[in-house]
Amino acid sequence: MHNATVSELSAALTAGKISSAELTKLFLERIGQLNGVLNAFVTVDAEKSLAQARAADERIARHEGSRLTGIPIAHKDIFCARDWLTTCGSKMLANFVSPYDAHVIERFNAAGCVILGKTNMDEFAMGSSNETSYFGPVKNPWDQTCVPGGSSGGSAAAVAPRRAPPATGTHTGGSIRQPAALTGITGIKPTYGRVSRYGMIAFASSLDQGGVMARSAEDAALLLSEMAGADARDSTCVDMAAEDYTRTLRQPWTPDGSSDRPLQGLRIGLPREHFGEGLAPEVEVAVRAAVAEFEKLGASIVDINLPNSPLSVPAYYVIAPAEASSNLSRFDGVRYGYRAPDYADLLDMYRKTRAQGFGAEVKRRILIGTYVLSHGYYDAYYLQAQRIRRLIAQDFDAAFKCCDLIAGPTSPTVAFKLGAKASDPVQMYLNDIYTIPANLAGLPGMSIPCGFGSGGLPVGLHVVGNYYSEARMLCAASHFQQATDWHTKAPGV
Ligand code: GLN
Repeated sequence: MHNATVSELSAALTAGKISSAELTKLFLERIGQLNGVLNAFVTVDAEKSLAQARAADERIARHEGSRLTGIPIAHKDIFCARDWLTTCGSKMLANFVSPYDAHVIERFNAAGCVILGKTNMDEFAMGSSNETSYFGPVKNPWDQTCVPGGSSGGSAAAVAPRRAPPATGTHTGGSIRQPAALTGITGIKPTYGRVSRYGMIAFASSLDQGGVMARSAEDAALLLSEMAGADARDSTCVDMAAEDYTRTLRQPWTPDGSSDRPLQGLRIGLPREHFGEGLAPEVEVAVRAAVAEFEKLGASIVDINLPNSPLSVPAYYVIAPAEASSNLSRFDGVRYGYRAPDYADLLDMYRKTRAQGFGAEVKRRILIGTYVLSHGYYDAYYLQAQRIRRLIAQDFDAAFKCCDLIAGPTSPTVAFKLGAKASDPVQMYLNDIYTIPANLAGLPGMSIPCGFGSGGLPVGLHVVGNYYSEARMLCAASHFQQATDWHTKAPGV
């Protein structure tokens, strides 16, 4: 059962072959066996999960279930979930029990999903390796001496070894796609504004977007259909009705596509800038083989340029810290979260609370952000970075005039060793060089497993689509997964 897809689980639940309570117990047991090793979950609460599962079973018995009723799901610990500890990977929120549900949690609860637990993550989603978490690093289930990627590394390390059927994640620069690539699962970050950020703890609000980490494009489509849609509580959430992304999943790309060439008519752009210096040969080999598979399915390949993409990392590391420095000013020890035990006066309390409550990477971002926003530097850094952001979006606009989807590597290397980049922030930041451009432009992106490199570590294929083309991306990815079996491989932990 733990190997079944979400739609298979859904069918089994509806047919009464298994109950949600049994399924939830099974996954909780599997989490228990491994969590001491992988550290993927910050919180599990069997009692709460099983109560939800029993309610789902009653709903199914009344024939009132939806296709997600009874499905266990893990949530990144950045989503506020009522009565659940919601830590965001930080000491600052290590004691914070949320009094309300994030929009995403509300949607999944309403559909009848069961919360399996809250997953570990880089502190305030700042990181690419899950090593900045206050709760300790997460291990890669394929090789426990390696990182799972970040910041949604806990969700990735829950889904890859079948400890959760799907999980939620969030993405500011690479946090869904990069850990998905490094653990061999499918991850999608939709168009900015497609999923409400209400109740999702803010890192960089103009970049943050919730998404899904799953075993296949089909599962991702099912989950995303539930998450996406308008929400008046987030003013940047687009006023567009939810879509059923599963409806077009199996359709040929163009109406005249044949069943052996379902992607006939699809034009895939390969950005020259994403196949140059810094890309590990083993990653390039797997990615090129995947592109060849897309050609077999009928797609045609065009070379494209994203000339400003090398500027994306420096621009991101001005914009994201700027927004973070503002967003994180709310953590001051006054209303909730950590408060320093000893202090002389109010100012001293702020200082000590923030000095003790935040980790080193978060402090680095707050310092950079405060600096680039300060008088005299604002024009030189922040405005300049916003201009680059615009140029990057224009590069994509031009590219999408000659292709439908853009493909390449998700990450320059396979999973690296724990500690290998922890003391070199620039090396760490370069992990997201291929994923950050889509965030700066607000475009949807996904990573799908496409092979293995040295040490049997997974490689991810990166796919970026035009605004609101999630259905098309998932359709292309699903045809690829029908023809290949990379997404069915699980680590033998
Ligand atoms: N690794 C990037 C960072 O540290 C992206 C993280 C994210 O997407 N949340 O900012």
